[in-house]
Amino acid sequence: MGKRMVVIGGVAGGASAAAKAKRENPELEVVVYEKSGFVSYGACGLPYVLSGEIPGLEKLLARTPEEFRRQGIAVHTRHEVVDVDPDLRVLTVFDHGEGRTFQDRYDYLVLATGAKPLIPPIPGTEQEGVYTLRSMEDGERLLKALPGARRAAILGAGYIGLEVAEAFRKRGLEVTLLEAKDRPLPHWDTEVGDLLREELERHGVEVWTGVRVEALRGTGRVEAVETSEGVVPADLVLLATGIRPNTGLAQAMGVALGPTGAIATDEGMRTNLEGVYAAGDVAESFHRVLKRPYWLPLGDVANKHGRTAGSNIAGQEARFAGVVGTAIFKAFGLAVATTGLSLEAAQREGFRARKVFIQSRDGAHYYPGSQPLWVELVYEEGTERLLGGAVVAHGHGALRINALAALLHREGTLEDLLGLDLAYAPPYSPVWDPLLIAAQQAR
Ligand code: FAD
Ligand code: NAD
Repeated sequence: MGKRMVVIGGVAGGASAAAKAKRENPELEVVVYEKSGFVSYGACGLPYVLSGEIPGLEKLLARTPEEFRRQGIAVHTRHEVVDVDPDLRVLTVFDHGEGRTFQDRYDYLVLATGAKPLIPPIPGTEQEGVYTLRSMEDGERLLKALPGARRAAILGAGYIGLEVAEAFRKRGLEVTLLEAKDRPLPHWDTEVGDLLREELERHGVEVWTGVRVEALRGTGRVEAVETSEGVVPADLVLLATGIRPNTGLAQAMGVALGPTGAIATDEGMRTNLEGVYAAGDVAESFHRVLKRPYWLPLGDVANKHGRTAGSNIAGQEARFAGVVGTAIFKAFGLAVATTGLSLEAAQREGFRARKVFIQSRDGAHYYPGSQPLWVELVYEEGTERLLGGAVVAHGHGALRINALAALLHREGTLEDLLGLDLAYAPPYSPVWDPLLIAAQQAR
């Protein structure tokens, strides 16, 4: 008889694990339990459905439960795993559709329960008109609310706040972005935050930074946000104040968490419990610059985690190589890409770090339509080892970040960067690539 693999959570981490394991070992029985009504979708596309650029949430679905079934994978939506006994390898499942509880067994278990929004501890967040954006259901609720909304306040100028500010403006809303720290994208250095602020304001977003949000005012339906700097009227409030790993079930069954508060795994995505794996936003990764566990809750990482866990369960030997912390997002006309450590983060970590920040272009200066592009490089004094960087551009030029990410992956130095044979043609780059200009300046 084939072994039985059960996956808890059916989005990026869980769906990848299930699909990979079944493909590599068709003998495996593979079952996925998903609490919500949706599996296997690209949450990363949600802001673009809200903006109207993608015509409908269904476009985000990668695979339906029916398509999984055709591959021999049993997917149960609206099924929540409420308990796991790792000694007996038995799970208790609540079927929200039928309102009944039943038990199932596993030989291999994948915890892919993801992350959930952090709700700030302020009065008024339970009112109507207050939203988070994490799941397809969240997307449905917001899509329904948008036509009746006029003034939106977004709490948090991180990834979601910045992407959704653009979406809301495209839907004609007045938007105020309220960030507790002193700049947009505060986990990165100031120059990038300044570029973002300018871009947001140019597109009519009011940006309030360094504000303490005290309460959401309203009598059952939100009407305004009370802050240390004044009151912002709003009929729609989005809480985009961060997320945390959804580890409740893991902790209850005795799965060890790491120093970040997410599940600790080895390179094969195995947890401390025999036969139990973790994948996606619920799990940590190894950070190759910091050389310690790190929580990087991103979609591409979740897919790699899932694929690694699935391969190992199928009997192959797969290892996840870790992360360097690369991310990219769009804010109106700007693409903002970062990798590794900002200067502030590097110094906080005890590196003797320095940075350069340069402005160049995304094409030859004489090429029609070429636009400004900015590069930040963070490196260690003395060794000249690269520690991080950012590229901000008006489009795909920001993907230069990937060259930097590759160097960080292998502990590259400024000299390694200067030696790279990078692509050049006038429509795409100046003859000296902006990364090389930054490296020369650092030298
Ligand atoms: P989740 O997507 O959180 O899925 C976990 C699933 O587990 C949930 O559906 C949940 O219902 C289910 N579950 C939890 N507990 C149980 C239980 N007990 N029983 C059954 N089911 C359970 N990443 C990028 O790399 N690039 C981007 O551009 C990007 N954009 C994003 C934009 C938005 C608006 C959002 C919200 C996220 C974005 N991300 C992006 C992050 C990316 O979407 C996540 O990293 C990814 O979804 C993580 O997948 P996951 O499977 O680990 O977790
Ligand atoms: P985030 O951690 O990126 O940003 C949260 C922001 O909220 C921070 O700037 C923080 O200072 C601020 N904040 C916290 N409490 C506040 C308060 N009470 N008032 C005002 N500001 C407050 O988190 P997010 O934007 O919620 O996004 C969640 C996750 O989704 C990200 O960590 C990322 O993994 C993922 N994501 C990625 C992308 C991408 O890669 N393009 C896009 C969207 C989402």
